[in-house]
Amino acid sequence: MFSRGCIIRLYVSAGAGDIRIFYFAGIDEKVLAADSLNPLHAGKETMINEEYISMLGKKSVIRELSEYATARAKEIGAENVYDFSLGNPSVPTPQFFDDTIIDLVKTMDSMSLHGYSPSNGLPEAKQQVADSLNRRFDMDYTANHIFPTSGAAGAIAHALRAVVRPGETVLVFAPYFPEYNPYITFTGAKIRVVPANFRDFQVNFDVLDEYLTSDVAAILINSPNNPSGAVYSEETLQRLFDVCRAKEKEYGHSIFIISDEPYREISFDGKKVPYTAKFYDNTLTCYSFSKSLSIPGERIGYVAVNPRCEKADRLVPVMAQISRGIGHNCPSSLICRAMGKCVDITSDLSVYETNMNLLYDTFVRLGFTVVRPGGTFYIFPKALEEDANAFCRKALKYDLVFVPGDSFGGPGYFRVAYCLDTDKVKRSLPVIEKFVRSEYPA
Ligand code: PLP
Repeated sequence: MFSRGCIIRLYVSAGAGDIRIFYFAGIDEKVLAADSLNPLHAGKETMINEEYISMLGKKSVIRELSEYATARAKEIGAENVYDFSLGNPSVPTPQFFDDTIIDLVKTMDSMSLHGYSPSNGLPEAKQQVADSLNRRFDMDYTANHIFPTSGAAGAIAHALRAVVRPGETVLVFAPYFPEYNPYITFTGAKIRVVPANFRDFQVNFDVLDEYLTSDVAAILINSPNNPSGAVYSEETLQRLFDVCRAKEKEYGHSIFIISDEPYREISFDGKKVPYTAKFYDNTLTCYSFSKSLSIPGERIGYVAVNPRCEKADRLVPVMAQISRGIGHNCPSSLICRAMGKCVDITSDLSVYETNMNLLYDTFVRLGFTVVRPGGTFYIFPKALEEDANAFCRKALKYDLVFVPGDSFGGPGYFRVAYCLDTDKVKRSLPVIEKFVRSEYPA
């Protein structure tokens, strides 16, 4: 808006004829006239950024399928649509979180509660996060290493910009969350995808060397993983980080790990998720309370800078500067304070394991190739034909909404998000069986 105003002011001073056009032209002509003064926009219709315009037609496959499921539910009733498309938590937020918010509103002075937060984040909430991480993972964070953000998306936006320059490369391992594409490319960096290891969805070490070239500034990892549900083992992390340390020496520059962990609290079979930062100094941990507290709409998470990381004491202030540029500012102070008081609790997440077992057993019984998830609320089986899009289209005839794996870098596979109530998952099992037996008879 401002730059456009600026151009018009310059334009006015350019000559009387131009002034006349400016005052009497319709809005489109005004824009055109102004655009023609900017060499970057010469010959283009508007000043709206073409890069974003080109994205408008390209809806996320997940969103599209979820919208289809909602429309279909209106036709035949929500109870008859098995919508496994969206990763939206299905368990209630803990009562304690809501009570905390009410208590804050009732007891805190309104100017302090609703006032601006310091640009590095609210010290008390940061300290509560640091204390919790230190207790649970034997780390030594201080409040100065914690930067509160709008969910994991906000955390990754800051972490990437802090340690990756435009033009450098960020490595991701397939299968991966498709939003990593805009997260990375809109920083000006390049995304490079290491093909999946379909055996167990751990890191594909067979090809890592080929992909980890000297232009790689950071590796964005995600465990427990969306969409595979895989949890990277300690052995995987150690092996990956040994390679990173060797490459850092060889290339003479650091390689950062950005560890995206929104599903850290959803793990199965009584196993704990290894804490990545414990194994590698240059780690920025990106966390979100969206899934652990079932509050994705509240947009709260953080970046935790490993105290042993290079320039550890400068990275949070750097991220506060990044916020200025991307207009993020601090998350809502009410939610941030509530988060600080709820760092050690979660919703009752057990339903996800119950659902996983039901689906995993059914997929195995029906002959699917499928890796048993170690966490999250996703499972990623191999489709029963080469083209997972065709497979998912056939499933839609049975009102089963699955997401093809192509956009996750896993063509031929499909994602099933089982954040549904268990009764619905149970009712879906005979429908899945009917679909498979009818469309893919043995
Ligand atoms: N990373 C992964 C792997 C996700 O699955 C999601 C959301 O589903 C995000 C990041 C973004 O999380 P948030 O909604 O907390 O920003």
